[in-house]
Amino acid sequence: MNDWAANLEAWDKQYVWHPFTQMKAYRGEKPLIIERGEGSYLYDVEGNKYLDGYSSLWVNVHGHSHPKLNAALTEQAKKIAHSTLLGAANVPSILLAKKLVEITPEGLNKVFYSDSGSTSVEIALKMAYQYWKLKDPVRYAAKNKFISLDEAYHGDTIGSVSVGGMDTFHKIFKPLLFERLAVPAPYTYRMTEDNDEEMCRKTCLQALEQLLQERHAEIAGLIIEPLVQGAAGMITAPGGFLRGVRELCTKYNVLLIADEVAVGFGRTGTLFACEQENVTPDFLCVAKGLTAGYLPLAATLTCEEVFEAFLGEPEEVRTFFHGHTYTGNQLACAVALKNIELLEQDALIAFLPEKIAFLEQRLAAFRDLPYVGDVRQRGMMAGIELVTDKESKATFPAHEQVEHRVILHARRHGAIIRPLGPVIVLMPILSMSIDELSSLLDITYDAVRSVTEQAYIK
Ligand SMILES: *Cc1c(COP(=O)(O)O)cnc(C)c1O
Repeated sequence: MNDWAANLEAWDKQYVWHPFTQMKAYRGEKPLIIERGEGSYLYDVEGNKYLDGYSSLWVNVHGHSHPKLNAALTEQAKKIAHSTLLGAANVPSILLAKKLVEITPEGLNKVFYSDSGSTSVEIALKMAYQYWKLKDPVRYAAKNKFISLDEAYHGDTIGSVSVGGMDTFHKIFKPLLFERLAVPAPYTYRMTEDNDEEMCRKTCLQALEQLLQERHAEIAGLIIEPLVQGAAGMITAPGGFLRGVRELCTKYNVLLIADEVAVGFGRTGTLFACEQENVTPDFLCVAKGLTAGYLPLAATLTCEEVFEAFLGEPEEVRTFFHGHTYTGNQLACAVALKNIELLEQDALIAFLPEKIAFLEQRLAAFRDLPYVGDVRQRGMMAGIELVTDKESKATFPAHEQVEHRVILHARRHGAIIRPLGPVIVLMPILSMSIDELSSLLDITYDAVRSVTEQAYIK
């Protein structure tokens, strides 16, 4: 290792506190310090090359350091990097809003910008709540609560944590949170004996309908990750579940918030996941893939009906009092526009079915491994759930760190992936070639096989 790399390693451990990371363990390990990226690959400070099997945390779309995205960014930087959207406008944010309205489900026609998935969710929650108060403060006085799914993940700010359902991340903050109403997640593998999707869908929708029947007068909205609950470990919903949720929300006068932060921008095989079940939500949250992995930018889209409720004279105080300093940032909007343009020009979505089918075919082999309980895939996202025993579906004891060892094994062999609890996650960059996907799957397969076998012997 050269001096420069050694210094960076020491300074990283001395100064940087990493997110979602137990720093005690982190300090004991060799850190991965990325210096550059090109296409589907990341390069560390020592020149090692890795396939980016997690799309740099689910954001990358066209590959790293894409010449056209780079150019869009530098062209915009020559004009201006940022001016505020508070009471003023800028060119790229207007063009991007128009584009987003064109490509998202029919009926979503207003765009509110922010900077992260978490804030896009906060905004939807606050708008939904305020909407009812503005619409009829007496009639809807009780509409103060939100429904979310068990195992839900909607971000890390207090509002988005309030609608979260993952105890590991969220339990400690409970006294700080507003109350959520929980409904079961459609986790077919753990809910049914023989992966019975139909039964899972019915059970979950029935539980939701019961809650809505009893308490709809108190419920402002329901928030859901359409088709796949990502952070929970790639819990793929049975077909028709999202459609069913939409119908129940309409029936019981509850606003539907679709959190497409993870699944948006082609991840599930269509531009937006809602398209697959012909669903138009009342709010659509997008972030991760919006700038193709370049800059933090998010958007909350909503319909005319919600927007109009906020119109009024200044003294009526119907304004939506929310806005982040960097809202509508020009650099981020310019690169997002180019991202969408490339998605359209390069026909990336049109090539996805072939890649998705390839992934499916190669993932099938994992099912035969002795310590793989379930393999779930929707489009270009997949989860491989590890168990000690296929019958009991027990997970490996935490202290064995089996999942972490799988990831380290893969890293030594040239691929970067991440686990979520007992689930090994694959989130390849959408632009990856079939050859690159093939290597990623080879490396992942070897890592899972050899580490779980060792764990057993021990
Ligand atoms: C990542 C994620 C978020 C949070 O986005 P940040 O940009 O990390 O704040 C919210 N919802 C879902 C479904 C996500 O996957």
